[in-house]
Amino acid sequence: MAILIQNAEVVSATETKRTNVRVEHEKIAAVGEDVVAESGDEIVDGSDQLLIPGGVDPHVHMALPFMGTVSIDDFESGTIAGIMGGTTSLIDFAIPAKGESLLETLDVWYEKSAGKAAHDYTFHMAVVDWDERIAEEIPKVVSDHGITSFKIFMAYKGVFDVNDEQIFHILEATKAAGGFVNVHAVNGDIQLMLADRFAEQGNTDTRYHALAQPPRAEGEATGRVIDLGAIVEQQVYIVHVTCEPAVERIAAARARGEPVWGETCPQYLLLDDSLYDLPDFEGAKYVLSPPLRKKKDQDVLWRALADNEISVMGTDHCAFTFSEQKQMGRDDFRLIPNGFMGLQERLPLLYTHGVTKGRISANRWVELCSTNPAKIFGLYPRKGTIEVGSDADLVLWDPAATDTISAETHFSRCDYNVYEGFETMGGPTKVWVRGELAASEGEFVGTVGRGEFVKRPPR
Ligand SMILES: [Zn+2]
Repeated sequence: MAILIQNAEVVSATETKRTNVRVEHEKIAAVGEDVVAESGDEIVDGSDQLLIPGGVDPHVHMALPFMGTVSIDDFESGTIAGIMGGTTSLIDFAIPAKGESLLETLDVWYEKSAGKAAHDYTFHMAVVDWDERIAEEIPKVVSDHGITSFKIFMAYKGVFDVNDEQIFHILEATKAAGGFVNVHAVNGDIQLMLADRFAEQGNTDTRYHALAQPPRAEGEATGRVIDLGAIVEQQVYIVHVTCEPAVERIAAARARGEPVWGETCPQYLLLDDSLYDLPDFEGAKYVLSPPLRKKKDQDVLWRALADNEISVMGTDHCAFTFSEQKQMGRDDFRLIPNGFMGLQERLPLLYTHGVTKGRISANRWVELCSTNPAKIFGLYPRKGTIEVGSDADLVLWDPAATDTISAETHFSRCDYNVYEGFETMGGPTKVWVRGELAASEGEFVGTVGRGEFVKRPPR
């Protein structure tokens, strides 16, 4: 069946225009003021609403085995949460343990996502080691699996980290294969040394989680990997940028014309490190890496988003329950599973605190949450835009809708929400996934298992 959405303000990364959009066979079939309904079309009135391309979240972890447990949202609950907040594509990370094969790791991720996702998805391939087998597997990941983005960790020493020599090899190999690299940039030696020193001194409270990852340790690693990327002439994408020292390095590289991108997440714009001082272990709810920073860093990030020094809004959605999973670290901050939610909250929070407060335009909001991640990661123009031939992943957005975020009503399986009580302005009234209505007036009406793995072309 075909659908005509009429009278909405269609917001793209570059313009806002009242026009009609016709959807047929999962795709956008026509766009224009003169596009009218054909017989049998369902007509949706978009008056007083925005129509935007569905959000693309380039940074999530569904059912990730991590720190002795598994993150609580899987491809089913995670994609439903995303849809309820206006997101219709995600990129997860397939992460091997050291010594494991990349291709066998991908099989594990295919299996864990199969039949569960309610919208489309793809994976980044993490590389946590360097040896002959990995060198042989990287080109196959790109050519056989359509996975063109890789991930390296400079943090999590002994678990996921790679050293400078390994990074150099990975930058070269991914470039030769037609891919590029995402980086978790924090100096892992300093992080591990400080965390262990605090613990040996008996300082095991949650606040020491943040003190073990000083902003300069993030800035240093960010600058180092940008420099390594420049030597190899490889593109580098810095995930979850939190603070001024990291923004400075990215801005300087971009000013030199280097292919460097930065991503931040809502938590680094809206939450700060004073939360780690909450009594009764409540601070553990906010433990993630890199940690929450100071209010002054939030100001730097908002400006960087507006000035295009930071190009993408992700979430690092990786939720763990407070009643059980976070309790693993009650006596030692080093054992608190790192991460929390954001898939459902990303678009409403950035609209509320970015667009309605005049920090960014609605076009920039669409660019940060949908168009740029689709472009950078090779999903564009299938995703991230409203053009003839694009997938009909669409969100009808009521700019006047109000809501209050709460664990009582969110669609994540987590038992708390870091944004509990936050009021939002603007929200999705209808969401389509490849032409099928998936959310309507706050109800999930989509189909679990309808989401497909999307292959991407080499760069
Ligand atoms: Zn992550």
